[in-house]
Amino acid sequence: MANNITIDETIVWQKITPGGDIYASGNSEEFHTGDWRTTKPIFIEDRCIQCLLCVPVCPDISIPIKAEKRTDFAYNHCKGCGICARVCPVNAIEIKAE
Ligand code: SF4
Ligand code: SF4
Repeated sequence: MANNITIDETIVWQKITPGGDIYASGNSEEFHTGDWRTTKPIFIEDRCIQCLLCVPVCPDISIPIKAEKRTDFAYNHCKGCGICARVCPVNAIEIKAE
């Protein structure tokens, strides 16, 4: 299988791994998929009560935690799905157009 190859704009589809096949767990952080985004979550820190409900629902591990508090979004791989905003009980996340 095609592992350890550089995937860039010159690659042809026959050389990349088939869609949907995941060869390592927890690897979404390694892929900078943030440029796929059409909508973007905005963290409104003043409203946040640090309940951390948004953290486990993010499918892309895009809400970093530091000293037991969430910090701003890791936009390099956040895809803007909006799930985090849906679960936030105090509207501390707003979704805007990219
Ligand atoms: S918008 Fe989606 S991908 Fe981005 S931080 Fe929220 S849940 Fe994660
Ligand atoms: S769900 Fe909302 S209030 Fe809770 S940590 Fe996330 S942003 Fe803050």
